Amino acid sequence: MSTYLKTAAVKDDLINASEHKRPTQDSLPSQAKVVICGGGAQGAAIAYKLAEAGWGNEVVLIEQGQLGGGTTWHATGLMGILKPSNLETKIAVMSRDLYGDLEKKGWYTGFRKCGSLWVAKKKDRMYQYKKMVASAVQHNIDCKILNPEQVKQYCGLVHTEDLLGGLWVPGDGVANPHEICLALGCEAIDKGVRVVEQCSVSNVRTENGRIKAVETSKGVVECEYFVNRYVRL
Ligand SMILES: Cc1cc2nc3c(=O)[nH]c(=O)nc-3n(C[C@H](O)[C@H](O)[C@H](O)COP(=O)(O)OP(=O)(O)OC[C@H]3O[C@@H](n4cnc5c(N)ncnc54)[C@H](O)[C@@H]3O)c2cc1C
Repeated sequence: MSTYLKTAAVKDDLINASEHKRPTQDSLPSQAKVVICGGGAQGAAIAYKLAEAGWGNEVVLIEQGQLGGGTTWHATGLMGILKPSNLETKIAVMSRDLYGDLEKKGWYTGFRKCGSLWVAKKKDRMYQYKKMVASAVQHNIDCKILNPEQVKQYCGLVHTEDLLGGLWVPGDGVANPHEICLALGCEAIDKGVRVVEQCSVSNVRTENGRIKAVETSKGVVECEYFVNRYVRL
């Protein structure tokens, strides 16, 4: 647990990152190993993971507005772990574990395990759920197929007359995406990551097919790696 966490006011034993934001940087360094574009859930998680791997002092995260102020701010926070494809399920499991790590470090993530109930009206949807149950085994995810009567038992409000059945995933839940994003940002900053807000990435410079530098509204930063999803290059 970091010094900040030890001294910060504790609410229900967990810390709200939004109440304990770390200072961000006004200016850009001229060089960094990694530049990350975008301080949403994804950018913050990448910064956190790189910092955990010991690269904190060599990472700059650039956000055009405020950390966690993009799509992540609007997200409802449903956390379904079992996905239609194996790769998506793997990523969702990694995310769940990551948020669990944050809670162990004392951060409030808002995670509440309430389970999720999926319903099917058509055969192909029911078939998809059966495939998901089969693939859940390899990810060690508990889930089961329900008939319409069982769906009703899980949630009495559901109109089941036209349903073929459903899928119950007890480990699913809800969380607070904005707090999670800020907690990841705090942890990353504590481990040396420089976060520059109110700064837009506008272009990248390449040399021999490799990234050379990133152009922003606050100047140019040379780097070896660029993590991008938002800038059309
Ligand atoms: C209404 C709504 C409900 C949702 N509900 C759920 C849900 O229940 N469960 C779920 O799993 N997902 C949900 N989502 C999806 C989820 O919010 C996103 O998948 C997730 O937040 C994406 O995170 P991100 O980091 O990729 O994007 P963002 O949070 O959008 O972060 C990208 C950041 O990049 C910045 N940026 C963009 N261009 C530049 C640039 N040129 N220079 C610098 N910075 C830049 C933006 O300002 C932004 O902060 C929901 C989304 C919405 C809109």
